[in-house]
Amino acid sequence: MSDALARGGEAPGVDTGVAHSARVYDYILGGSDNHPADRAAAEQMLRGYPALRTSMRQNRAFMHRAVRYAARQGLEQFLDIGTGIPTSPNVHEVAQAVTPGARVVYVDRDPLVFAQAAARLTGTPQGRVGWLLADMADPAAVLGSPEVTGTLDLGRPVALSLIGVLQFVPDKEQAYALVRRYLDRLAPGSMLTITTATSDSAPVQAGSAAEQFRRSGIPVRDSTRADVLPYFDGLDLVAPGVVLVHRWHPEPGTEGAVRDSEVAMYAGVARKP
Ligand code: SAH
Repeated sequence: MSDALARGGEAPGVDTGVAHSARVYDYILGGSDNHPADRAAAEQMLRGYPALRTSMRQNRAFMHRAVRYAARQGLEQFLDIGTGIPTSPNVHEVAQAVTPGARVVYVDRDPLVFAQAAARLTGTPQGRVGWLLADMADPAAVLGSPEVTGTLDLGRPVALSLIGVLQFVPDKEQAYALVRRYLDRLAPGSMLTITTATSDSAPVQAGSAAEQFRRSGIPVRDSTRADVLPYFDGLDLVAPGVVLVHRWHPEPGTEGAVRDSEVAMYAGVARKP
């Protein structure tokens, strides 16, 4: 992983000629912040795994439930890493609907994401929303940045979310170590929420979508459930543990609406003791 860390308002050039994960994701979710290379890659992925759109929507819906859960547990500070192109509602809207004074910092390394974010993500007058253009590979730099320290009090619990981003860390041991380095610096009572890609539930189809992602130049790492558990070592895993995203505290009445084979993301939420 690169240690590159660019910070502040100076957005470097956006390369629209090659597919990019945030824009592929935006296209599949129905957004308009994408280019032909992104749409071509996305359409190829959807051909191999038509349920991918359902899977990505379920991933967003999980994020909403998990943020609401953390806010209701009393967390007032949120650090969302790998934010993606802003779609509403995002973390700050969900958190501030529960706790108007909630403070949120978003981190992404994509300049396009950053450019859209500055315009779209504002939040309540009581709360605060910060933005950092940075690679998550350097936790000390991210957590020490003025954007983070000026918005969050790291002496108090933080809800750290890494939604749909850890699959882009090529090596799983590297991914565990990275998450650990963030958690080590967060206060007791902090929470960890992650989702990451799997083909357990649809081995052939989700596997083909991942292969297409790789062919478009975006390496994506597949995780089994057993691969996901070590992220939570030493933490108190919230029931029901590591499950496909749609199975984590579904909204009452929605159980059974989505088949497991339509969802290619695992989720887990835990609390730092
Ligand atoms: N969390 C969002 C978007 C996921 S798309 C959601 O689930 O809806 C993944 C995002 O992670 C992209 O915007 C990409 O730019 C970002 N990303 C990938 N690797 C990253 C890294 N090393 N550091 C920071 N952001 C990264």
